[in-house]
Amino acid sequence: MKRLILLGGGHAHVHVLEAMAARPLAGFEVVLVSPFTRQIYSGMLPGWIAGHYPIEACALDLGQLAAKAGVRFVQASGESLDAAARALACNDGARLDYDLLSIDTGSRTRIEAIDGAAEHALPVRPIESFIGGVEALLARCREARDHPVAIIGGGVAAVELAFAIHHRLAGEGAAPALSVIGDAGLPLDGLSRNLQWKCLQMLNERGIQWHAGSRVAALDGSHAELSDGTRIPAGHALLVTGAGAPAWLAGSGLALDRDGFVRVAQNLQSVSHPTVFAAGDVAAYAHPRPKSGVFAVRAGPPLADNLRRAANGEALSEWQPQKRALYLVATGGRHALGAWGPFGWWGGWVWHWKDRIDRAFMRRFGNAHVG
Ligand SMILES: Cc1cc2nc3c(=O)[nH]c(=O)nc-3n(C[C@H](O)[C@H](O)[C@H](O)COP(=O)(O)OP(=O)(O)OC[C@H]3O[C@@H](n4cnc5c(N)ncnc54)[C@H](O)[C@@H]3O)c2cc1C
Repeated sequence: MKRLILLGGGHAHVHVLEAMAARPLAGFEVVLVSPFTRQIYSGMLPGWIAGHYPIEACALDLGQLAAKAGVRFVQASGESLDAAARALACNDGARLDYDLLSIDTGSRTRIEAIDGAAEHALPVRPIESFIGGVEALLARCREARDHPVAIIGGGVAAVELAFAIHHRLAGEGAAPALSVIGDAGLPLDGLSRNLQWKCLQMLNERGIQWHAGSRVAALDGSHAELSDGTRIPAGHALLVTGAGAPAWLAGSGLALDRDGFVRVAQNLQSVSHPTVFAAGDVAAYAHPRPKSGVFAVRAGPPLADNLRRAANGEALSEWQPQKRALYLVATGGRHALGAWGPFGWWGGWVWHWKDRIDRAFMRRFGNAHVG
């Protein structure tokens, strides 16, 4: 029997599992390789920190999704890949040969970019380690009220985490000194201008300091040192900088873009190895898009379709990611900012809209805790 490996249980692969539950892939053993039995939905993670959801409501049960799809679940990480030999080596020492491989392992935080970050920063990825780290951070802030927290990065995730931590701790009377350090002039770089200004205003109202145009060069456990020498108090530092490529791809033989992500054609097939597909943050699409959950989710259905076509020896179909994505940015309480291209809006209704979308996504993939 031939074998299809789904490497990583990311946003695109949960669609593939759903498609396979509806229609099994004849003649193939399908194997899902994932280090964790659950997939945390990052869109709801700030809501967990803010206290709106229990963590179970933010997790998809990969074991259950695989079982429903008749897919064998292997709890391991892919550690190295020989694309020419069609062999994947896992961290448990197993070697898995494949006829088709689909990669949806997301990105990683580039911890090596900042001196001292490995010792003194909590990277947002892997998310499973981040969850434990955030709990420790919240506990530390409750103990030492003046414990300063710096969030490095000025994008959607960084801003949502800042608002969420502030909301949670301020609600307990333990609001920390929080700062967000970004390299752009305004937070939420790339989103609509009026939304950026609104975001800055909201950060100011909460006493969260925004450090514009700043690059952190080093961390020492008490301060973040910027490249111009400025020192910002940072007893805790969260690293929420842009997505980096998984290091293990470098020796795979796959064609990668200059940042190390898997180059795929419009059909999501590797441009160098037709037996390999990739989607989500790990993929460098033919039409480049920001590394964001929206594009990972949207790639799911075309990926499922093309894996089936490749398995059946049929012609692949092409997919073009939408040009714009809807961003809904939670701001701590039951309030959110929304952006679509040049348009921006905000309010309690935006949070309820986001909440409905997130819950529907979780329910669709079998989460029974989301209500
Ligand atoms: C706090 C936060 C908030 C965010 N908010 C938004 C938002 O509002 N909107 C938006 O569009 N984007 C948002 N993002 C970005 C979004 O999370 C990512 O773009 C999205 O998760 C990418 O999906 P993916 O399927 O590529 O990978 P992931 O969701 O990262 O999934 C990858 C999976 O692969 C597994 N894996 C990793 N390495 C291996 C390996 N070597 N072998 C096997 N399995 C592996 C991981 O455990 C994980 O299960 C946010 C991110 C964060 C951190």
